Amino acid sequence: MKFLIARLNHETNTFSPVPTPLEAFAPDYDAAAFQANVGMRTAMAAFIDAAKRVGAQCVTPVSATANPSGPMDADAYNQLTDRIVAAAAGCDAILLDLHGAMVAQNTPDGEGDLLARVRAAVPGVPLGVALDLHGNITQKMIDNADVMVGFKTYPHVDMYETGEHAARLVLQMLQQGTRYAVRWRQLPLLSHTLRSTTLGGAMAAAVSSARQAEGESVPAMTIFAGFSLADIAAPCMSVVATAECTAEGEALCTAALDRVAAQIWAEREGYVYASEPLADAFARAQRMAEGAGKPLLLLDHSDNCMSGGTCDTMDVLQAAWRHGLTGIATGPLSDPEAVAQLVAAGVGAQVSVRLGNKVPLARLGIVKEPVLVHGTVRAISDGSYTVTGPIYTGQRCSMGRAVWLDAGGTQIVVVEQPHEPWDLGVFSCVGLDPTAYRYLLLKSRMYCRPVFVPLSAGLVECDSPGVTSSDYRLFPFENLRQPVYPLGDVPAYP
Ligand SMILES: [Zn+2]
Repeated sequence: MKFLIARLNHETNTFSPVPTPLEAFAPDYDAAAFQANVGMRTAMAAFIDAAKRVGAQCVTPVSATANPSGPMDADAYNQLTDRIVAAAAGCDAILLDLHGAMVAQNTPDGEGDLLARVRAAVPGVPLGVALDLHGNITQKMIDNADVMVGFKTYPHVDMYETGEHAARLVLQMLQQGTRYAVRWRQLPLLSHTLRSTTLGGAMAAAVSSARQAEGESVPAMTIFAGFSLADIAAPCMSVVATAECTAEGEALCTAALDRVAAQIWAEREGYVYASEPLADAFARAQRMAEGAGKPLLLLDHSDNCMSGGTCDTMDVLQAAWRHGLTGIATGPLSDPEAVAQLVAAGVGAQVSVRLGNKVPLARLGIVKEPVLVHGTVRAISDGSYTVTGPIYTGQRCSMGRAVWLDAGGTQIVVVEQPHEPWDLGVFSCVGLDPTAYRYLLLKSRMYCRPVFVPLSAGLVECDSPGVTSSDYRLFPFENLRQPVYPLGDVPAYP
């Protein structure tokens, strides 16, 4: 037996100006693609393990993943998907590790088009897909897979288990002749990323119902929160189930889908995020920071590079200054031009530098002015560090060169590449101890939390104009199908 196993992951923020060329994926091919997943916790690793268990040969044309950014270059999309399609011939099963919210310059439905091509290449061959919880599901994806399973956790910690689940069902198709099909309900509901955490709230309740359905009536059920920063027809929430193709299996699946979709709709307010005005947020932060002895976290979630942000906007920092906050540590801020100037000036130099706000947010029609900052260069490093945990422990990261700029009341780590503050290493690589300051301003939504929340006196979310802002009014949706909640009233659903 031969299994086609491939990984192609991209979450596309169509409003992001950050380009997505082939190099952004650092793709591995064939034997290297296989090796890149062995022993990892990816869905593809679970596919490989499942294939090994039944003695199947693994055909692994591609393993490629890029950070969230703007639409994928057409050329990159074609090259990577062509390789996957070309490898399908002669395979007995197809197992694909995809994201579900991939938009390329030449298609709004990256996964749907890929799955349709693979299916057309090998009609009738069992095809299973593992997806991210933030997948934007389409009818084309549903129609061209037999088995579809997504993550049940956010922060995502069950990629391997998701792959294992999909592989188990595909093996049942092969070995026992079970027939599966994918069924779904899509809700006219834009969920907010900060409300898609499975640690609590409406999303956690929906996932719990999906787990219950899996124990009782369907072989698989996933709650897809969707990724709303995509200008496609329906970047919306979906409930997706894999049904056994029997009258009873279909009936059970229909009932389960209707039940869980109705639950999500009834709790739709739980998926909406209302931004607090910055002045209110800072006033609250000041009260919380008083006598705390630990830094107060300010999360600039509107410029999160792990959702397509430029990692260079200055709005929250400027607003904090206007509000009189001092004792701030912040970073990493991506500004290669400023890094070059600060490195040339050297450690100890007094400098005036035009900082941040340099990448135009063209799709939002926003162009900002860099901010003139005066300060002293405290340290310079190559900007690389080893993650000390608790997630991705041991992984080596690089931000390009990094500089610690001391601007009096504010300490800023300036780097050459966008980088999520998901580890203390982003500060310690220049010798800065972020816990020594009253406020810690981070451009992050979720990834910073496991590391920085335990070190902090509390957390205040700060919204501002950026490509990952929580204010939907900033985003000029052209393709979004209306009406959709919460942008408008949806008369009656379901
Ligand atoms: Zn996700």
